[in-house]
Amino acid sequence: MKQIYDLGEMPPTGVVPDKMYASVIRSDRYGPPGKAFRTEIIDVPPLGRGQVLVYMMAAGVNYNNVWAALGKPVDVIGARRRKGEAEDFHIGGSEGSGIVWAVGDGARDVKVGDHVVVSPGFWDETAPDIRAGADPITSSTQKAWGYETNFGAFAQFALVQDYQCIPKPDRLSWVEAAAYMLTGATAYRQLTGWNPNVVRPGEPVLIWGGSGGLGSMATQITRALGGIPITVVSSEQRGEYSLRLGAQGVINRNDFGHWGRLPDIGDSDAFDLWLQGVRSFGTRFWEKLGERRAPTIVLEHVGQDTIPTSIYLCDNAGMVVLCGGTSGYHGDVDLRFLWMRQKRLQGSHFANLRQCHEVTQLVARGYIDPCLSYVGSFEEIGMAHQLMHDNAHPPGNMAVRINAHAEDDQYSGCTS
Ligand code: NAP
Repeated sequence: MKQIYDLGEMPPTGVVPDKMYASVIRSDRYGPPGKAFRTEIIDVPPLGRGQVLVYMMAAGVNYNNVWAALGKPVDVIGARRRKGEAEDFHIGGSEGSGIVWAVGDGARDVKVGDHVVVSPGFWDETAPDIRAGADPITSSTQKAWGYETNFGAFAQFALVQDYQCIPKPDRLSWVEAAAYMLTGATAYRQLTGWNPNVVRPGEPVLIWGGSGGLGSMATQITRALGGIPITVVSSEQRGEYSLRLGAQGVINRNDFGHWGRLPDIGDSDAFDLWLQGVRSFGTRFWEKLGERRAPTIVLEHVGQDTIPTSIYLCDNAGMVVLCGGTSGYHGDVDLRFLWMRQKRLQGSHFANLRQCHEVTQLVARGYIDPCLSYVGSFEEIGMAHQLMHDNAHPPGNMAVRINAHAEDDQYSGCTS
């Protein structure tokens, strides 16, 4: 048996070599993602109980490993070493597609040769809170796979828990299948997981970053459920893309300047100026909607720059649902708007298994396009993350080939 196989060279089914190629981050390279990733040869990790080794065909590119490369806000390598893990490197990649190559003792519902999409939701199924009935994604044991855990998708073999393997929709190529799960399932939970504030037919939804990964998925999910997506973008080209995906209207955020933290309430001049800004943004929302109604759901992930606007604009008894803070973590809330109008500010983090399977059904049946707009090679993993860090990436989702070949990249999608 060979000790290592080239990228794209498939070992005999089920044969696991000792070594593999991996795109690796080390703490002395923390910094701009373009320089933080480097291809190295690493030992293939041993299988534990309930675990599965997946021969990776393609991987999605997400913010998780922008943060991992920067070493901020969390030094993921240091955090794991403090908990006793031996490795002084990080192999990231929080979603992907591939073939089940080896199955550990006790692993269920998977067999060697299965074609799967790997979901990023990781938890300990034996944890007391899960056994007591908690939604696993809220468990104290929950982690983002390929970010908080090691041996993610950016290597020839990835180590996953059995439940992370979701059957791959046949109609998708490897690269398409690698790109929709993280953003798609996150947006699906945001829009359907927080009763009674779920997307309802005919109700408007405001979506920040409409052409981005989350935004492109959220727009299509809102449409599929009968809601009316109005999206925010920063360029005409991104706006056109969002309209093609089903947005009823698009707002260019560069037409406004009231972003960022709220002014001091005692500073009435600055506060009045802020109110003018947010009200003119609200007027634009009505224009795009074609009627004077507020969004019943605001899908947030931008954080500091936009939270005050989201809270102000959201309808009475509506919900601002937030899964990130790209622009910063200090989200100012004018509590008067929150309690007087009985609004809900809801944190939301990835998705549970039911939500992963349901969003996969929407993709498999063609209701949601994976919106794959960039496919890179293994050596371009760092560059793809750098583009994302610089907000210079193309609309939609990005993927990189791991063992897949360029000739397998056929697209089922309509948006790229
Ligand atoms: P993405 O593809 O880069 O899209 C984000 C969009 O946000 C960009 O296209 C950009 O659109 C917009 N944006 C950036 N800075 C902005 C600002 N200052 N004000 C308004 N809009 C801004 O990224 P993504 O994959 O959708 O992820 C977005 C965030 O969600 C990241 O922070 C990520 O970590 C987080 N996230 C969290 C989870 C979770 O489970 N908790 C899952 C997925 C993502 P325009 O410039 O066109 O406006």
